[in-house]
Amino acid sequence: MPLDGTSILHFLGCGAAFNPALGSTAAYVREGDRLLLLDCGESVFERLLRGHVFDGVRELNIALSHLHSDHCGSLGSTVLYARFSLHAEVRLLMPPKEEAYAASVRTLLGFYGVPEDAWRMMVPAGLQPFETVRSLRYVRTDHDPRMICFSFELETPAGGIFYSADTRTTAQMEAFIASHSRIAAIYMEMAEQDTPGSIHLPLARLQAALPKELRKKTFLMHLASSRCEDLAREAGFSVVRAEQDS
Ligand SMILES: [Zn+2]
Ligand SMILES: [Zn+2]
Repeated sequence: MPLDGTSILHFLGCGAAFNPALGSTAAYVREGDRLLLLDCGESVFERLLRGHVFDGVRELNIALSHLHSDHCGSLGSTVLYARFSLHAEVRLLMPPKEEAYAASVRTLLGFYGVPEDAWRMMVPAGLQPFETVRSLRYVRTDHDPRMICFSFELETPAGGIFYSADTRTTAQMEAFIASHSRIAAIYMEMAEQDTPGSIHLPLARLQAALPKELRKKTFLMHLASSRCEDLAREAGFSVVRAEQDS
C-alpha cells in the first residue's frame, strides 16, 4: 500500500502560544525505539508522557524551529527525563553553520540545568534515516526579527513535507513547492487577520500564495482559536488535529 504522506507526522499539539487548550504545536515520528521530535514547547513533555510516546525510546532526536517558549518551553524536562529516566541517547539536531543559534540552545539548556554530557548536537545529515523521514533540512524563515527562526523540509518516500509552525512569510513554502515534483504534505501556521507588524501569517496571504490544488494537503496549525479552524476549512484547507485531542 502506498504511504499516505499525511500520516507520517503525528501531532502532540496544534495551538498557538496563547491557546494552551490545543497544546503547543509540535509533531513527532516514532519508529521502533527511535523518536524524532519537531519542537518542544510548554505542553510537549506532558503530552509525550500522557500519550506514552516516550515508552521504550532509546534515541531521542529533537529539532527546534526557534526559541519562543511555545516551541522550546519543555526542552529541559524532556532532555533530562529522556537521558536520566529512559537512559536514551539525546541529540539536538542543529542547522549547519548556525553558530549563534547553536550557542543560544546551549545557553538555554544550561539555564534549565541540563548537564552538557546529557545531550549532544548533531547536524541533520548525521541522522540515520527513518523509514518514513529520510532527511530533515532547516531553512531560515522570517518570523520574529529579533530571533533566528527556521522552517523544516522533510523528504519522505511519499514526497516532500514542508513544516513551518511560526512564520510571517510564504517565501520558503513557495521555494519548497517549486523544488518538489512530489509533495506529501504542507504544514503551515495561520493567523485570522492581517495585523500590521504581526509576526504571524494571515490566512489571506497564504491563500494568495498557494495553488488551489495543494490546499487539501496543506494542514494549518498553531491555531489561536476555534474560529481559525472554521476559516481554514471554509477556504478549503485541512487542519491539524493533535492525537490526544481527537
Ligand atoms: Zn509559536
Ligand atoms: Zn514564535
